[in-house]
Amino acid sequence: MEKKRKIDSECRTFKNKWNFQYFVIESSNKALCLICNETIAVLKEYNIKRHYESKHLQNYSKYTGSLRTEQFEALKRGLKSQQSLFTKANTEQESATHASFRVALEIAKRDKPFTDGEMIKKFLIAVAEEICPEKVNLFKSVSLSANTAARRVQDIAENISSQLSDKNGYHGWFSLALDESQRMFQILLMC
Ligand SMILES: [Zn+2]
Repeated sequence: MEKKRKIDSECRTFKNKWNFQYFVIESSNKALCLICNETIAVLKEYNIKRHYESKHLQNYSKYTGSLRTEQFEALKRGLKSQQSLFTKANTEQESATHASFRVALEIAKRDKPFTDGEMIKKFLIAVAEEICPEKVNLFKSVSLSANTAARRVQDIAENISSQLSDKNGYHGWFSLALDESQRMFQILLMC
């Protein structure tokens, strides 16, 4: 029984020759098809070969010898640039979220109504249109509606609360109070 399992796992290691044979690369212990970006979950030649032959053989059998190597490298480069685009989009989205948090915090610290967020956003977009028009859409994606600002401040308060309980071990209760105009911002901590 033990022996059989060992052989089975040995069979399921990625073989480098599959790169050029089937245009796949190893990715998190799976095979990733560079042509269609599909993942083949089982690392067995049978599965990978079946994927390649049923989907891509017709268009890719013409690549032989060094042409095949070049085609493989080109597909791999394509994947890399796609991935870096995705990372960039992620980082931009993250900075838009951070910006939204920071503005919400500034509004709260100054005791300003959360609806000011919408006005601030208009200012920011006007400035961006003049200084960096290529980034206007990113500025537009910074969420600064009154509801978002209120939620951000609450998130910050909850974060402070959990940091405090991490430090002190325990505190009785905590609340965030807002009046109807949302002008009042108060954190009450009872230790
Ligand atoms: Zn494929």
